[in-house]
Amino acid sequence: MTVQTNPAPRELLPDERGHFGPYGGMYVPETLMTALYELNEAYLEARRDTGFQAELRRLLKEYAGRPTELYLAERLTEELGGAKLYLKREDLLHTGAHKINNALAQALLAKRMGKKRIIAETGAGQHGIATASVCAKLGLECVIYMGAVDMERQSLNVYRMRLCGAEVRGVEAGQKTLKEAINEAMRDWVTNVRETHYILGSALGAHPYPMMVRDFHRVIGRETKTQILEKEGRLPDELIACVGGGSNAIGFFFDFLDDPGVKLIGVEAGGRGASPGDHAARFRGGRLGVLQGCKTFILQNTDGQIELTHSVSAGLDYAAIGPEHAYYRDKRRIDYDQATDAEALDAFTRLARGEGIIPALESSHGAACALRRAAGLGKDKIVILNLSGRGDKDVREAAKQLGEKLP
Ligand SMILES: *Cc1c(COP(=O)(O)O)cnc(C)c1O
Repeated sequence: MTVQTNPAPRELLPDERGHFGPYGGMYVPETLMTALYELNEAYLEARRDTGFQAELRRLLKEYAGRPTELYLAERLTEELGGAKLYLKREDLLHTGAHKINNALAQALLAKRMGKKRIIAETGAGQHGIATASVCAKLGLECVIYMGAVDMERQSLNVYRMRLCGAEVRGVEAGQKTLKEAINEAMRDWVTNVRETHYILGSALGAHPYPMMVRDFHRVIGRETKTQILEKEGRLPDELIACVGGGSNAIGFFFDFLDDPGVKLIGVEAGGRGASPGDHAARFRGGRLGVLQGCKTFILQNTDGQIELTHSVSAGLDYAAIGPEHAYYRDKRRIDYDQATDAEALDAFTRLARGEGIIPALESSHGAACALRRAAGLGKDKIVILNLSGRGDKDVREAAKQLGEKLP
């Protein structure tokens, strides 16, 4: 008989200072350390509190629309002639993407901590809209930081946030996009930490955010596991998700990490080419560094200056990847692939034509990989794509990219 060595429970990661092996940590100004420790304590308490968990479950059901369907894409499966393709329908959630899972949970935690004011950053606006909505729902004051360039590109989303009662503050520094919005939000937090909670939008930043955001999205993977066992009586062969900061992917994968038969694939933005500045694939061009609170793979030049990034989808367009992804890549437990702008756009139209489902451009990167892989696998295999969000927000950009005039 072979001796089984018990792997450390995944929940024990990160360690108490936020390390996933060499990644993660708490690289913030001293003035924020107390706030992060407080947040960590409050979160660990809430995690153990059945009352908090029950309230969160109720809100996820009644307000966000959980559980989301695990949907068999029959026509695409037939067209591909390979593995059965399922879609986990996070696109059906309130405000249009998985982001509400995290925003709702953090807002509830903030309330529990007695904080009355919420701040958040947003790039394209999806996290800002989710945060503004839950603040309206829970009666919290809400300030959203957004780069001035992003505000211009996403003026409709700015208005949606304002409709929900949020104040949107434009950031004029640097490139005037997401990175600068995060800096500004952190500055606000340092100043107003006593009454303010910062709802970070992905599995990124300083500890405890990567752990906490991951936990708040684990519901995606848990539901998927129950649903696929009900529908197929077995676990899937492959799970595929797009990776910006990495929150939808880690939440989807987490409860399958200990199922060695399930292949896990994260898909980064391959953009328009392999040159620096043309993509956002941190595992292709990135190196170890520290950005906005955590140590991870970062797109940077030889002086350590953050590289410009490009992706057709704003949600994948960020220079750093969540630290837990770097850890499981080293462990060879999660594989990483890329999809280019063109491949994502192709998948976007194929899902629309094949199933009548318009995916977010972010999710379309995962879809490109899923379509490619399902076509190459046998009919006895099962592939599940996490459809992280819906594409209503992207139709204008898609039309432009596809060279079509809007009527
Ligand atoms: C924000 C966003 C992403 C990227 O964020 P992750 O933290 O990597 O999940 C992916 N899909 C959609 C629809 C998004 O809005």
